[in-house]
Parts: sequence; C-alpha cells; structure tokens
Amino acid sequence: MSTEQPTTKKYEFKAEVKQLLDILVHSLYTSREIFLRELISNSSDALDKLRFESTKGTDILDNGIPLEIKIDFDEKKKLITISDTGIGMTKDELITNIGTIAKSGSADFLKQLKESKADVNNIIGKFGVGFYSVFMVAEEVVIKTKSFKKEEPAVEWKSNGLGDYEIVELDDKLQRGTTIDIHLKEDTKDFAEKYRLETVIKKHSNFISFPIYLGSEKINTVAALWREPKSSVKKEQYNEFYKFLSYDSEEPADVIHISVDAPIQFNALMFIPKKSYDFFGYNREDYGLDLYVRRVLIQHKNKDLLPEYLGFVKGVVDSEDLPLNISRETLQENIIFTKIAQNITGQILSYLLKKAKDEPEKYAEFWKEHGRYFKLGYSDFTNMEKFQQLLRFNSSFNDKAESLTSFDDYVTRFKEGQKEIYYAFGSSKDAISQDPHLEIFKNKGLEVFYLYDPLDEFVLSSIRKYKDYELKSVDSIDLKNLDSFKDIDEKKDKPEELSKDDSKHFDSLLSKIKDILGDRVTEVNESKRLSGSPAVLVNPDDSMSSTMQKIMRMTNKEVGVQKKIFEVNKDHKLIRNLLKVYKANSKDDYITNVVEELFESALLLDGSLTDPHRLVSRLNKMLEQSSDWYTEIKKLN
Ligand code: ADP
Repeated sequence: MSTEQPTTKKYEFKAEVKQLLDILVHSLYTSREIFLRELISNSSDALDKLRFESTKGTDILDNGIPLEIKIDFDEKKKLITISDTGIGMTKDELITNIGTIAKSGSADFLKQLKESKADVNNIIGKFGVGFYSVFMVAEEVVIKTKSFKKEEPAVEWKSNGLGDYEIVELDDKLQRGTTIDIHLKEDTKDFAEKYRLETVIKKHSNFISFPIYLGSEKINTVAALWREPKSSVKKEQYNEFYKFLSYDSEEPADVIHISVDAPIQFNALMFIPKKSYDFFGYNREDYGLDLYVRRVLIQHKNKDLLPEYLGFVKGVVDSEDLPLNISRETLQENIIFTKIAQNITGQILSYLLKKAKDEPEKYAEFWKEHGRYFKLGYSDFTNMEKFQQLLRFNSSFNDKAESLTSFDDYVTRFKEGQKEIYYAFGSSKDAISQDPHLEIFKNKGLEVFYLYDPLDEFVLSSIRKYKDYELKSVDSIDLKNLDSFKDIDEKKDKPEELSKDDSKHFDSLLSKIKDILGDRVTEVNESKRLSGSPAVLVNPDDSMSSTMQKIMRMTNKEVGVQKKIFEVNKDHKLIRNLLKVYKANSKDDYITNVVEELFESALLLDGSLTDPHRLVSRLNKMLEQSSDWYTEIKKLN
C-alpha cells in the first residue's frame, strides 16, 4: 500500500562481519586514512559497472549524467560525504553486499588481522572488505543509494558499526548512485579538513579513471599512463601508478611497458613486485591484469591474460581492437584477446630471460621471491623452452646453498659424452652431499643439481627433459650410462682385489644376504656406485625417485612402497670383515645382525624406515659387544 509509511528495519551483521568490525573499531591502526581509498575505489567500481551496463545498451536511470565522484566535508560537523553517480544498490544488494563478507577465506583473513602479522593497509584492500574500514574513523555511517534499475526504490542504510544496522526505503526521488555520510569520531575529526583530504586522495587515488571533485575542485590526474609513450613517462609516475594499483608500499622491482601496433593494437603496463604477494597462501585468487578496451575498464584482475604461474605480475592491458561491449564470459573465446594474452606471456618471459642474462644478481632476487610461484609453469607447453631456461637450482658445483645454477650453466660443464642431467633431493646441502648415491658422481666429477624443495623434484620429474638431455634422479639411474666417465682420481688407494676364491664366497654371501632380506628387496647386488658407504638402496632403473614416491604416497594412497635393490660395497672394510666371518661359519648370527642393521640404516637414509625401534635396540646390543672387545683390547679389565 503506497500510503503506508515505510518502516525502518533492524538487521544484525553476520558473525564474521561483527568480528571484523570489532577489530577495526577498537584498533588504532596508523594507516586509518586508507578508508578513503577503499570508499573511492568502491565508487570507481560502481561507475565502471554503470559504464559497462550502458555499453550493453541497458535501460538506465538518469542516463547521461556525468560519471564522477564527489567528496564534501564539514569540519564543524565532523562530517565527510562521498558520493558517486555509479550503479547504486537495491535494498537486497545492500543487505548482501554490506553486512556479509562474501569472499571465501574470511576466517583466515580475520586470524591474520588479529595476530596483526601484516600491515592492515596491505590486507584490507586485497581482501575486499574495504567498506568496513570506514569504521576505523566513523562513529556513524549513513548510506543513501539509488540503483540504476528504474523501478527500484532508493534506500538508506545506517550503522554505528557495533553489531547491527538499519535499513529504510526512501520516498525521495534520489539521483542514481550512492552517497555515504561519514560522521567522524572525536579523535579522527581532522580528516574533515581540505588539505588532509587532498593529500590522502592524491596519495592513494590519483589514478582513478573518473574525475574526483573535492568541493568544486577536480583533484586527480585521470591519465591512462599505459597509453603514453614510454619516453615521456618518468620513473616516479610508474612507481606511483604501481603503488596505486597494487597497494604495495614499496617500489616495483621491474616495469614492463609494452606498446604493440600490428597485427593487433594493445598497450600493457606491467610490474613485478619486489616482494612476493603470496605470503599468506590464502589469497591465490588475488592475481590477474586489469583489462581495458579503449581506456574503459572491462574487467578487474582478468585471469586469462596471464597464466597463473606469472600471477605475481601486476598491471593493466588496454586494446583498441576489442569490442567495447565484449562480455567477460566470452572473452576467452575471442581470438584477438587470446593473441594479446599469448603475446604478453611471451614478452614477460623474454623480459625475464634478458634480466637473467644481463643482471644475474637481480634475477636471483627475483627467483628468491617469485621462484616458487613461477615453477608452477611446468605445464605451459607453449612456452616450455623459455620456462626451462628460467629455472634455477642449487648444484654440487656451487659452494653455497643459496647460489643458483641454470640448465644452460649445467650443460656448459658437461663431461665429454654426457647426455643426462642429474639431480638429488635432500633437506640441506650438507645432507645431500652425505648421500651414498652421490659417491659415484663425486668420484667421476659429475655435477648434480641439489634440490631442497619437494616442488623442484616434482617439476623436474614432470618436465623429464631439458633440450635433448634427460633429467635423472641420482637414486634411479642406469649406472651403465656412467661407465664412460673416468674417476677423477684414479690413483686413489683401492683395497686389494678379491682372490678368485674370495670372489666366489662374496657371490654366495650376496645370496645369503638376499635370503636374510627375503622379499623386502628385489635383488641384492654388488655396488658399482659406492666408495665410502657399505651399502645402499637404489630404485630399479628409470623408476620414480624416492622423493617422488613419497610425494605420490602423500597425495594418492594407492601408490604402495616400491621395493628396491640392495647394493653392497665389496671394497668396504665392514663387508670385507663380514666375508671373513662368512667364510669361517656361513651360519654365524653375526651376519644376520649386520645385514639387518645395514638394511635398516639404508631405509633410514632413504626416508622409508617406518619403525626405528628394532634398529636402535640392535645397534645398542652391538655397541655393547664392541665395548667389551674395546675394553679387552685396551686391557682395561
Ligand atoms: P569489495 O569492494 O572488495 O567487494 P566492500 O566491502 O568494499 O568489498 O564492498 C562490498 C560491496 O558493496 C561491493 O562489492 C559493491 O557491490 C557494494 N558497494 C560498495 N560501495 C558501493 C558503491 N559506492 N556503489 C555501489 N555498490 C557499492
């Protein structure tokens, strides 16, 4: 009934909003000024959305009024008013948009904020809970809004940010858009001052692509920097634009400004941040480039212009050749769009290659920050060659664990006739260099990549090859391929060769060991790869490396434990002594004990010993025995 007075209705904020508000209202963040950036950015989004509707030809209320943002202030009343002629909100939209946190992961966000692990300035904007930041400065906020949909009534929303809000339908004929009255708290009233407002707007909102009026004065630059010729843009302008775009407080590490005219016209202005944004791991959605068509924003954070592994790149792309009314849903099918995307990806990779070549130290910094993200590109088959050239690992050639080696570096150090690239995985440089599997590589002076991140091993086993060279884990190689490489130090003291008779005994000792270990191993063989260790477990040729098996087991329970080959080093003192024991009495229990101990130690090194108890109690017993012999020899009894 039209004569009835509209009634004010009270609503409660959703629980997560209450928590967020509680934090914001009661904390004294130093960067409270960012509320203004957030509200202006919401207005700018609302204007973008309206422009988008109008290019689609939607019937729009007040069509033709200028698209702009106005900021008024009254110091005495402690009041700031922000209004825009954007898309506005209906009553339902108000309730869903402002009153809940729609984005997933809000629980994580709140946790981070509570623990204040990060600067609120950085998280608020990135997480998209910007509106609520107004309660850092306001004791009351009143929103009046009128949707562009003609038949929808204007609505008013009011709250002090303490738990609930009120909504009432308005009778007045409001102009399309949204007006927000911010009643400042006593200790934040300084914000309602012209100079203060102007400084904050220039600092955070200078590149908003709609005019911002402070009182009657237009104060932002409204320049599409990416359309300017490179030579006319100053470093400070790039930096300022980057900070505006990314909410980063630091300057970018790299600026990539591209202007292409043929066959497709587009401009792109992109940045690589100094620090990785992926620091919480919860905000994986926060990537993408802003897509403009003829200076009109079509989509924020478009995710198809760049593959995900280049998601650390921030920036904008603008093309003359895409239709203005293109819908976001059909972008991916647009051939021009796809070509632009391919071109940009290629250019970024080329840029990185050039950086790696010309400024290796800077590239190492890039790798340290963004490498983990970048590695996910192992499935980008189109750009595989460039991708692989950009990968970096530590290697046995490097003195320090932080130093980096590329495939190309590695290949320049190939031994004559080498056709494979080797890698080993472990927790540290020290741990890997102690790995018995590496003994043969050290003896032959073959370089081995040292991997400390399971992801590296995953990447290498996925790409399988660099150029024509196979990538091989040191624990699953075909040793025959190493035969042609001579030991570096051939004169090294080798123990005497076994006599013919001893050799025969050794062979039967191997069968004895196989009997002891039974089907816990596939075979027991004489080792050709060991020099310092008595025994080792190896994977059958060309099977998955031990780390990969572990990764697979973690992700997919169906992969069982793969049985391995037990290799015994005939030249090791312990094995020689064991042979003596065996020759004297092939049934001596001592043999079983030693073999069990060697086997479980090898499992331990391999990372696949499930229960260490037996190993430890056997070891203790053997130590006890040896202490008896020791005291005897030393005549201490
Ligand atoms: P975000 O802007 O990241 O989505 P906010 O909490 O700042 O998060 O805003 C929530 C939503 O409220 C926006 O997504 C938008 O739909 C709506 N909104 C906020 N301000 C305006 C405005 N000035 N005009 C129209 N809609 C708005």
